[in-house]
Amino acid sequence: MSAHGGIQTVAPPAAAAGYEDLLVLEGARSGATIAIAVHSTALGPALGGARLWHYESAGEGIEDALRLARAMTYKAAAAGLRLGGGKGVICAPTAARPEGELRRALLLDFGDAVASLDGRYVTAEDVGTDAADMAVIAERTSHVVGLPGERGGSGDPSPVTARGVLAALGACLEHRFGDPSPAGRRVCVVGAGHVGGRLARLLADGGAELALSDVDPARRALAAELGADWLEPGEAILDDCDVLAPCALGGVIDAATVGRLRCRIVCGAANNVLADERLAVDLARRGIVYAPDFIVNAGGLINVYAELHQLDHEAVTNLVDHIGATVGLVLEEADRNGTTPLAEAQALALQRLGR
Ligand code: NAD
Repeated sequence: MSAHGGIQTVAPPAAAAGYEDLLVLEGARSGATIAIAVHSTALGPALGGARLWHYESAGEGIEDALRLARAMTYKAAAAGLRLGGGKGVICAPTAARPEGELRRALLLDFGDAVASLDGRYVTAEDVGTDAADMAVIAERTSHVVGLPGERGGSGDPSPVTARGVLAALGACLEHRFGDPSPAGRRVCVVGAGHVGGRLARLLADGGAELALSDVDPARRALAAELGADWLEPGEAILDDCDVLAPCALGGVIDAATVGRLRCRIVCGAANNVLADERLAVDLARRGIVYAPDFIVNAGGLINVYAELHQLDHEAVTNLVDHIGATVGLVLEEADRNGTTPLAEAQALALQRLGR
């Protein structure tokens, strides 16, 4: 047991080796397990969202915090940000969305846990939490971003993320076809939500031939508005297109789909596009250009980074557009070294971490 600002923590699991800190506690108000993993502060405070989720066991939640914290270190380093990697997990007692007093208790408990780390971890929105939740957490700690716009927060990250995906997509097109313009290129956007929907609009403006897909039939209206083909998700993944842009859930490219893909490029906003990192080798062998997801979707992180450092619009735009240059770099390095863009992206992050 150790103490963080008076909060008792349990012994970290063996999986935490190589991490700077793992705080695991039982919320004083809610009784829920709360875990905060700080993977690295080598480049700056460990920033990563607060995930409010119902896990089968507390152990699963802790493992999730550890896995996601490490990914945040890589994402921040590859994007050239002065940030480390961390993640918070609040284990919800049931699968139903916590509401009312329970929700408030969970968030205040989490805020106390964040405060106990004295700024080494900065929290933000993630799956299961939103800007209003960040305002509740802010009652207990100042180390929180993603606050509502009226509280000085950076607001919805999706427009910034979509712009970053477009920059990455341009770099992929340049690499594959010698021209970054999406004009006349068939792009299949799978998941027409906050990011995918905006990306589709940007691509339509750029003259792309669009195909859209979503499990939500209400998104058909956007396809009709943009003159895009509408595909069911299963067929969309296998569409014969220049660019497949996964913008829904992770794991869409797995052992069953990788050999059947008919796209020339994979570049989208979704986290963990590859069900297994080794699939990057299969994509390379098939001559499919893969833009590593954690570089492509860094716009969301850049958005809250701007809030943390009070960056102006121009600085944010520069950082987001630089995503294209970073993608171009890892694609070139992968070709030169006979590796994969994913391996080169990880090497770039490690290099920036000084390892
Ligand atoms: P969202 O919930 O607004 O949109 C996701 C869309 O995908 C929804 O319309 C949903 O109906 C659809 N969908 C779900 N399952 C599907 C399936 N199997 N096939 C097709 N469509 C499906 O989410 P978002 O904010 O647009 O984020 C999309 C992805 O990008 C997520 O993986 C997210 O983690 C990642 N991401 C988002 C941001 C951001 O700024 N919002 C930043 C970084 C990464």
